[in-house]
Amino acid sequence: MIRCLECDARITIPKDVIEGEIVSCPDCGAAYEVYKESDNFQIRPARIEGEDWGE
Ligand SMILES: [Zn+2]
Repeated sequence: MIRCLECDARITIPKDVIEGEIVSCPDCGAAYEVYKESDNFQIRPARIEGEDWGE
């Protein structure tokens, strides 16, 4: 299970999530980038500086 690094709330990662996708904490709204480590998905704080997110 993955917990928010900010507030410790549970963050649910969609089953079909892909690496690099951004998920946000339902509680505090912190944004995290999903990455894969070994066979498990982990999260790290998403950097929202700059604007190279899609578009
Ligand atoms: Zn949170």
